[in-house]
Amino acid sequence: MTNHFRQAIEDTLPWLSSFGADPAGGLTRLLYSDEWLETQLAFKKRMSESGLETRFDDVGNLYGRLTGTRYPDEVILSGSHIDSVVNGGNLDGQFGALAAWLAASWLKETYGPPLRTFEVVALAEEEGSRFPYVFWGSKNIVGLANPSDVQNITDAKGIGFTEAMNACGFTLPSSPVPARKDLRAFVELHIEQGRVLEANKQPIGVVNAIVGQRRYTITLTGEANHAGTTPMSYRRDTVHAFSRICCESIAKANAHGDPLVLTFGKVDPQPNTVNVVPGKTLFTIDCRHTDADALKAFTAELEADMQRICHEMEIGIDIDLWMDEAPVPMDVGLVQQLTALCEKENLNYRLMHSGAGHDAQIFAPTVPTCMIFMPSINGISHNPLEETLIGDLAEGVKTLALMLHQLAWTE
Ligand SMILES: [Zn+2]
Repeated sequence: MTNHFRQAIEDTLPWLSSFGADPAGGLTRLLYSDEWLETQLAFKKRMSESGLETRFDDVGNLYGRLTGTRYPDEVILSGSHIDSVVNGGNLDGQFGALAAWLAASWLKETYGPPLRTFEVVALAEEEGSRFPYVFWGSKNIVGLANPSDVQNITDAKGIGFTEAMNACGFTLPSSPVPARKDLRAFVELHIEQGRVLEANKQPIGVVNAIVGQRRYTITLTGEANHAGTTPMSYRRDTVHAFSRICCESIAKANAHGDPLVLTFGKVDPQPNTVNVVPGKTLFTIDCRHTDADALKAFTAELEADMQRICHEMEIGIDIDLWMDEAPVPMDVGLVQQLTALCEKENLNYRLMHSGAGHDAQIFAPTVPTCMIFMPSINGISHNPLEETLIGDLAEGVKTLALMLHQLAWTE
């Protein structure tokens, strides 16, 4: 079975990756671009040829369907996003859609049609790389997308969302697309995009939760002044305040330990000049955790620490919390089922959380959802160097196929 999938991946992944191959390296396949449409149409044709009923929904999510013989109205869905970041790799997203098709083809050939309806989905968009909107594909399936949110947005070249959509033959729905009521499960296979599986020499990750995130922009206001004539005791130096905040917070994060992560990713001191005491510093905080209460408690502590430090140093502080996404647990029943399957098949797996966001988090609140991870070499992703050993990819598709067999091909 692993050998079959290894061969199937070698026969199809280079073909699918040829659409949107970027001369500058990797894959660039932005929502509603020519490359995007070409990919969806090619994938549609290939799925049709293999005996799946194919269709697009209103917004360009592509489906390949095998109707269930016993429970045609109960749908098991599997896939991932077909779009990529600029100069992305050829696994993030598209491999999950490709794998669902390879698994379904093998299951159909081996066992005939499913009892429950099975659908492959190549989701229109997840990355937010062209327009300032993420999860457009999955949100439209579960009734979370509001057309008015994208009606007036444009890409970096000034092309409107609706204009780009129309050019691909799709029309923005006039009102939110209602949630599908026929979905019984969503299973997403994806690369880890981190180093945990590789470091532990494990080919399979069973995801039990997707982290919650809080993102802040903080502005510190002190006083810009002459670097030579201002004695140390008279300064209101915002870089000094920032460095105290950063060091104390990181120490606290280290003491807290996994799965909490904390990042000060952007720092912008002003005037950013060698001989001026920096009077203003803007910086960002990205904090993630799988437990909502722990995330809230930790960031509340950070906020209080920052206030205290700034008060001590007579620095003004503005705290802007602009993203507050709760952690999303995967379906307990499906995670148990997947874990039991890995045990039974003697697969080398690990129960783990996802530190990155995925379409699965959009489905999970309303559709029983689980995710399977495969290792990323050196943890690299969103980069042309993104890679996974072919044996690990095959193991991933096999695990997906076994899970789909249980969900759609058996009672
Ligand atoms: Zn992805």
